[in-house]
Amino acid sequence: MPFNLEDLRDHNSELLELLTQNLPDMLWMKDLDGNYLYVNKAICEGLLMAKDTQEPIGKGDVFFALRERKAHSDKPNWHTFGELCFNSDQVVIDTNKAMKFEEYGNVKGKLLYLEVFKAPFYDADGKVMGTVGSGRDITELKKIQVDLEESLHILKEQREELSFQANHDALTRLPNRILFMDRLMQAINMAKRYKHKMAVLFIDLDHFKEINDSLGHHIGDKILIDVSKRMLSKLRTSDTLSRLGGDEFSIVLNNLENTNDIERIITNGMQVFKEPFTIEGNVIHISMSIGIAIYPHDGVDINTLLKNADAAMYKAKANGRNTYSYYDEGMTQKSLEKIYIETELRKAFKNDELCVYYQPQVDALTDNVIGMEALVRWNHPTMGLIFPDKFIPLAEANGMIIELDRIVMGKAITQFRKWHEEGYTPGKLSLNLAMKQIHQDDFIDFVKEIVAEKKCLFENLEFEVTETQVMSNPLKAITALQKISELGIAISIDDFGTGYSSLAYLKKLPINKLKVDKSFIDNLPDDPEDIAITKTIISLCKSLNLDVVAEGVETIYQKEFLLEHGCRNIQGYLYSRPLTKEDMELFLQEHNKEV
Ligand code: C2E
Ligand code: CA
Repeated sequence: MPFNLEDLRDHNSELLELLTQNLPDMLWMKDLDGNYLYVNKAICEGLLMAKDTQEPIGKGDVFFALRERKAHSDKPNWHTFGELCFNSDQVVIDTNKAMKFEEYGNVKGKLLYLEVFKAPFYDADGKVMGTVGSGRDITELKKIQVDLEESLHILKEQREELSFQANHDALTRLPNRILFMDRLMQAINMAKRYKHKMAVLFIDLDHFKEINDSLGHHIGDKILIDVSKRMLSKLRTSDTLSRLGGDEFSIVLNNLENTNDIERIITNGMQVFKEPFTIEGNVIHISMSIGIAIYPHDGVDINTLLKNADAAMYKAKANGRNTYSYYDEGMTQKSLEKIYIETELRKAFKNDELCVYYQPQVDALTDNVIGMEALVRWNHPTMGLIFPDKFIPLAEANGMIIELDRIVMGKAITQFRKWHEEGYTPGKLSLNLAMKQIHQDDFIDFVKEIVAEKKCLFENLEFEVTETQVMSNPLKAITALQKISELGIAISIDDFGTGYSSLAYLKKLPINKLKVDKSFIDNLPDDPEDIAITKTIISLCKSLNLDVVAEGVETIYQKEFLLEHGCRNIQGYLYSRPLTKEDMELFLQEHNKEV
C-alpha cells in the first residue's frame, strides 16, 4: 500500500513546513522504492534542480539526474549524483540501520561534497516504510581539510627529509659520521650483552685524490656513489656502511660468529671492485685499503675501535694498497703518532694550515739583507704551531713532501713578488727542496709555470738541497740540477759538511753556494776540529768559486771568526730567528734602507 503523508499531518504542519523549508540543509523523505514523499527547498535547488517542492513527489534521484544530463549532454560531468543516492537508500532499507556518510559528485558541473544522514522510518507496527534523510553541503570544509592534509603531508615529508639529511651523507645517501657513531655504539652494546664479536672496518679508496684531480670532482662524486652501491650490494642488512667524509668509508659488522666471517665479507666485497667503473666514458679502476679492529680484542669503546681501525688501514696502505690489515698491538705509539701526523698533514694541505716563515741571510760586513730562507710552519688547529722536524722527515718518507714543497714555493714566491712590488730589496729567496721533488718529471714545468704566473724572476730564486740527499745519487743529481741551473736559478748545498761529499762530484755539480752546517758553527771559535772544518769549507768555496753561508750563527764571536776567515754571509739567531712575513717587513725596513 503506498505511503500517505497526509495521514501524518497534524495541526503543527505549518510550523513544521516553515522549519524544514527555511533550513539550509537538504531534507527529504522517500518511500521504499526511493521515490520522494517530501522534499524541502534546499534539496530542490541544490541537488535535484526541481522547479518546486511538488515536482519531486513520486519521482526518484535517477529521474532528476538523467533529466539534468540530457539537458546538458555536451557536458558529461554536469551532474553525477543520482544512482549513488539511490543505492545508499537501498542499503539503509536492507540493513534497517541509520547511516552517516559523505557523498560527492558534480552538480551543475561543480564538485559538491555532502554530509548525509539517512535512516529508515516505520509505521505504527514497526514496519519499515521508507527513509528520511538530510544532506549538508560541506564542500568548503572539505577543501580546507584536503589543503590541510596536503600541507601536513608536505610538512611530514620535509621533516623526514631534514632528519634524514642530519644523519646521512648528501652525496651517497649513506649514514654519516653522526649516525655511524650511534650504530657503532648500539653494536658495541649488543656485542657486550650477547657476548658476540663485532668489527669496525675503516676503508680508504686508493689514489682517489689523483682521480679527482685528473678527471674532475663531478666524476669523483659519481665514483663515490657507485662505490657505495657496490659495497652495499655485498653487505648483510644488519651491517652499517657509512661515509665518514671524502673517500673514507666505514663499516660496522655486527654479530660475528668468528673472525673468519670478516675475511669472507671482505674478500667478497673486494671482489666487486675487480670490475672497473665506467663513468662518462672513462674506465676507472678503483681499489681500497681496509683496516680492521675487532671488539673486544682491539678495543671496547667507540674511539679506541675507530682509532685502531684507522691505524690498521694505514698499515694496509703501507703494505701496497688494495689490501686489508688487522690491527695489532705491534702498532706502537710511535707508529700511531706517525700515522696520526700523516692523516693530519693531509688535512693541513686541504685546509691551508701551512704557512711560511722567513729567516734573513745577512752580509755581516754591511748588515744588509742578501736573501732569506723560506721555512715551513704548520698552524695546527689544536696542536698550535708545529715545527718542520715533526713532519718533514715523515713527508719525505711517504712522498707528501712533493705537494708540501710546492705549497711552500707558491706561498713564498707570491710573498716575495709582493715585496718587490712594494719596493723592498729582499735579495734572493732560498727554498728547501727534497731531491725527490727535483727528480719529479714535471718539476721543471712546474717551476716555469709558477715563475711565469707569479711574475717572478729565476735570478731571484735559490734552491737548497741537502748534501746527504745529493750525494746519495750524485750522477742523477747532476743531471737534474743542471736543468734548474740552466733556468738561471741558483743552487746551494745545505747542511754542508755532514754528508761526505766527494770532491770529484762537487766540482761537477752545477752549484753556486755551500751552507756550512750549524753543527760546525756551534763550537766556534773554541773547538779546534770545528775551526779546521769551517776554515776548510770556506777555502774550498774560494777555490771552487762558490759562495759560502754560515748557518746557525748565534754569537758575536762566531760572527767575528767567520768574518776573519772570509765568510761574510751569515744566517742565524744572532741576526734573527725565522720571522712571519709582517716581522720580515720590519726587518727589511731596518736593514735595507732603500725602502
Ligand atoms: P735547514 O734547511 O737546515 O734550516 C735551518 C734550520 O735551522 C731552521 O729550522 C732554522 O730555524 C734553524 N736555525 C737557523 N738559525 C738558527 C740558530 O741560530 N740557532 C738555532 N738553534 N737554529 C737555527 P727549522 O725552521 O725548524 O727547519 C728545520 C728543517 O726543516 C730545515 O733545516 C729544512 O731541512 C726543513 N724544512 C723547512 N722548511 C722546509 C720546506 O719548505 N721544504 C723542505 N723540503 N724542507 C723544509
Ligand atoms: Ca735549508
